[in-house]
Amino acid sequence: MLLEAPQASRLQSFVADLLRHEAALVEPIEPEGLEVLAPAGMQQALGIGELSRLGFGATLPSSAVRVGMEGDWLDRFGRLLGARGRWTRRVLAADVRMPGDPERVLGHELVLDNATFRLLGVTPAWTRYLIMDFRASAVSDDKRDFITRLGVNLATGALSDAVVMALDPYLDRNDEAAAMPLDADLPAMWDHERVVGLVGQALPLRLEVALDPFVRGLRRRLVRDQDRLHRYHNDLHHEAMRRAVVLPEGDPKRLREEHRAAAIGREYRAKLDDLARQYATRVTVEWVQTQDVVMTVHRLSVQIRRRKADRTIALDWNPLARRLEPPACDATAGIERPRLLCDEALHLVVPAGLAPCTGCGRAFCRACHRGGCPKCGG
Ligand SMILES: [Zn+2]
Ligand SMILES: [Zn+2]
Repeated sequence: MLLEAPQASRLQSFVADLLRHEAALVEPIEPEGLEVLAPAGMQQALGIGELSRLGFGATLPSSAVRVGMEGDWLDRFGRLLGARGRWTRRVLAADVRMPGDPERVLGHELVLDNATFRLLGVTPAWTRYLIMDFRASAVSDDKRDFITRLGVNLATGALSDAVVMALDPYLDRNDEAAAMPLDADLPAMWDHERVVGLVGQALPLRLEVALDPFVRGLRRRLVRDQDRLHRYHNDLHHEAMRRAVVLPEGDPKRLREEHRAAAIGREYRAKLDDLARQYATRVTVEWVQTQDVVMTVHRLSVQIRRRKADRTIALDWNPLARRLEPPACDATAGIERPRLLCDEALHLVVPAGLAPCTGCGRAFCRACHRGGCPKCGG
């Protein structure tokens, strides 16, 4: 696959920057190439000699090696980069007033089915979003790569996919980083265990959504192939049985047809197993990069109340996404609405987090009882 001209020159300038940054001597040569004097480590990582010529366009400079998106060039550059570039911090400027009436914004976004709430106040605040990208590869008779993004507000724990998606255009902008005052009160980085726990909970739900069209396509083809196998073997089986039943019991010809029918049945089942193996899908997930995004938000302090108990939570209104982040579910990292409050600890959970036990039918909070139902252990 040859690259289109603009892509080829973008790749060429990326490679030139990268190699210079890694202490190579790099000279552009015509047409669309680079001459590289590479230090020893780079020679090893890229699999090139000390002095080499790389070509990017349709026509290569003489004795140049072609570099493109195909093959393993991206992996080789990845080896050279190591873990660098996988973590970046950005400060986003957001000097936007919260529009309208905060009470109304809150009433619109926060839906509690078994509790009441009250807005206590709104203050400007700093927050950090940890935005993590994962590459998922699904391999069956077909292979597909997906990028799935997961973002968490480190101050409130909110996992608003809508806000993370709305921030996307601001993350790639190369304008001057916004200034952050030295005394900005930023939430602390979560410890490793907490981040890994969150990813373990929240990523599978999002992967399912990302993989859904691929999986549905596979299922459709599987069902179609199963139908075809069934029709073919069913016809053969019927044919053999039709010939068998007109012959008297014990007739060797009849026995032969019956054996034939049984063999067709066995072949059908073996073919079905082959098909299941062919369509079995293995999904691997790899962490690609993390962005630490710092910005100001409007923080709503909200009292939530159930029966006689209450507690105060913080919800951020993001000025770039122009929306209020719903609270994270304390039990599942799910994002569907509404939220319910549990009686024991006033956890905010999605309805599934307070659903009846499948064993004894008693409803219980999955955030209070992570090990299972407190009554029957189910
Ligand atoms: Zn139970
Ligand atoms: Zn609870």
